[in-house]
Amino acid sequence: MQANKPTSNKLLKSINQQKVLRLIYTDGPISRVELADKTGLTQQTITNIVNRLLQDDIVLEMAPAASSGGRKPVPLVIDGSSMYAIGVEVAVEYVRGSLMDFQNNRIHEVTKRKEGPEGYPLNYIIGAVDELLLHVPDRSRLKGIGCSIQGLVDSSQGTVIYSPGLGFRNYPLRDRLEEAYGLPVSLENDVNLLALVENLKGTLAASQNNITLKFDYGIGGAIVVNSQLCSGANHVAGEFGHFKVETGERALKCHCGAKGCLTTIASISGLRRANWKLEALRSGVREQEPEAAAKFNHIADAIGLALSNVITFLNPEHVLLTGALVDELKDELLPVLRERIGITVPETCKGVELIVLPMTPNESISAAGLVINEFFEVPLEQLSL
Ligand SMILES: [Zn+2]
Repeated sequence: MQANKPTSNKLLKSINQQKVLRLIYTDGPISRVELADKTGLTQQTITNIVNRLLQDDIVLEMAPAASSGGRKPVPLVIDGSSMYAIGVEVAVEYVRGSLMDFQNNRIHEVTKRKEGPEGYPLNYIIGAVDELLLHVPDRSRLKGIGCSIQGLVDSSQGTVIYSPGLGFRNYPLRDRLEEAYGLPVSLENDVNLLALVENLKGTLAASQNNITLKFDYGIGGAIVVNSQLCSGANHVAGEFGHFKVETGERALKCHCGAKGCLTTIASISGLRRANWKLEALRSGVREQEPEAAAKFNHIADAIGLALSNVITFLNPEHVLLTGALVDELKDELLPVLRERIGITVPETCKGVELIVLPMTPNESISAAGLVINEFFEVPLEQLSL
């Protein structure tokens, strides 16, 4: 035990520093006196920590407010314009990257469309990050890389558990990128990330129980219960795409090994199997072409059925629908789904609200937010070491 003591002291010091840093981030401008009050740390400890943060150009001193007498408290803020984060959206058909500062301003953006299976997505991720690095004003001020992944992710281990579209299975993407760039890397599933952002400060901020469903190349889901994300025993909860919506002859084989899954019908990959392109379907539906109308009804029936079941089972306050398929078809799809749910869910669950975003957000920006969040995180779980 004796041998561990210096490490524990060092750790405690860094936890105190993170506490102070986080408070300046969330409550700044804030004075040293207020920091001591809110953290319970001594004035001397606060002074030492703040001096380090000032020296590292992480924190700035602002001009003191006018005061009636005595020493005026100096407000402290985060120096957000001179710290940077890279966010990368790793989708099935493209990799998009954004270089952001800590005040959420975008400095540069890059999109690399998949040209073939060769080297996708790893070489494309590296290509995007390399290009963004050329635009970082000061490399020593770049705090990390965040990735939003279209696939199942174990964010604590930094691995992509499974993504058929990306060709990853138990792939240690975090380690690969950390080795390549020597920077902290965070990974999160794209739908979980979107749900976290929307629950934190977006359309779901007032909601405690909700589901986010993304209809894109595949279908993903995120479940929030009592304001907590449910990730399940193996980080794979919310696999809405594999809800069964067809049986017998009509059930198509799915990449998961089962048959009749929603994703074989109501995703971009499902549309492709049926020789449809999303844009063609949308214009066909708008022009009331019978074939397009039939395909649209098939999709709406399948989503309506799966959605009714999940609403009945989980009793959410809100369901947020997103992804390219929803972006394109929401004007037609939403009224149909609302009507179906009105008919098919029990009286007790009818209060549920279906909502959509004007457009699926740029996930590379949310991914950069992972870095910023990590930078200000207080590593409380390490206290038990
Ligand atoms: Zn399946």
